[in-house]
Amino acid sequence: MNTQTLCIVVPCYNEQEVLPITSKLFLEELTHLIRCGKVGEGSRILFVNDGSGDSTWDIISQLARQDEHFIGISQSRNRGHQNAVLAGLMEAREKFDVTISIDCDGQDDIAAMEAMIDAYHDGCDVVYGVRSKRETDTFFKRFTAEGFYKLMRLMGAEVVFNHADYRLISSRVLQEFSKFHEVNLFLRGLIPLVGFKSTCVYYERHERMAGSSHYPLKKMLGFAFDGITSLSVKPLQLIFFFGCFVAFLSFIGIIWAVAAYFMGKAVAGWASMICILCFFSGIQLICVGVLGEYIGKIYLETKARPRYIISARTWEEEDSHS
Ligand code: UDP
Ligand code: MG
Repeated sequence: MNTQTLCIVVPCYNEQEVLPITSKLFLEELTHLIRCGKVGEGSRILFVNDGSGDSTWDIISQLARQDEHFIGISQSRNRGHQNAVLAGLMEAREKFDVTISIDCDGQDDIAAMEAMIDAYHDGCDVVYGVRSKRETDTFFKRFTAEGFYKLMRLMGAEVVFNHADYRLISSRVLQEFSKFHEVNLFLRGLIPLVGFKSTCVYYERHERMAGSSHYPLKKMLGFAFDGITSLSVKPLQLIFFFGCFVAFLSFIGIIWAVAAYFMGKAVAGWASMICILCFFSGIQLICVGVLGEYIGKIYLETKARPRYIISARTWEEEDSHS
């Protein structure tokens, strides 16, 4: 019999339509896992109400009264998906051995939890849920979402392709993660920074069971921008390279202006004006780029992230999951 306790963390924002449907599915999966002996009796489903304006919190309180496996916490106001997941994970960190975060709309395959728990028992501390197909998404959503991951990579933010926030994290990883104090949260980029053994579990993404998405294109673009700027200083470095490129173009411009002057094709004063303009615009961008390099370093310093994380010590007891 396994006594390792699991906490399923579910962020909910104005989800009164879908919660009554998916809460049953979460409970079914949890009782299945308990019955198979894969997780302990003390496992729970933790709903995080993210300052909903509808009856989401009433539904959560009612669920908690009906079945001891349901528990809930409520944020004082809406803080967004990432903060809601963080609140749930930090709440669960000391009380449970392992957590799985999942959206409450049933889009992520709840049955994939079993494979995640198996991977955990095999020694993985982080298991990423990865969407194998996006057939139920519209072409537009698929195109923009996949472009999102590619852009992130290009800009130096390492993320697992097609992985959203459906993932298993062990309590010891959460313990280390709690040392990351940054306010701009982008969990899918930060968890890989913590390290430890990880793997992926593939599943098909479904359609929302009820209600509507809270992530229209505008929010998604903002989210991508947030992810890039909070994980990477590459955009600042790009200014420097762009500056060098402009300086090179300016150099050609100067040669051209001087040549035009000597060929007598230039109006008086034009060549010297162009030379000065090209020279200074190149110099200025390079200088801004150098400033950018320093600002990037200051930015990373202000995050005060841990500089190293120890995953094992020979003199400590063998850390076994099962
Ligand atoms: N969510 C949240 N706070 C917010 C917006 C969303 O907790 O401010 C939750 C929401 O209830 C859902 C999850 O985050 O469980 C993902 O949101 P949604 O399904 O609307 O996004 P999509 O899957 O369309 O990208
Ligand atoms: Mg969704």
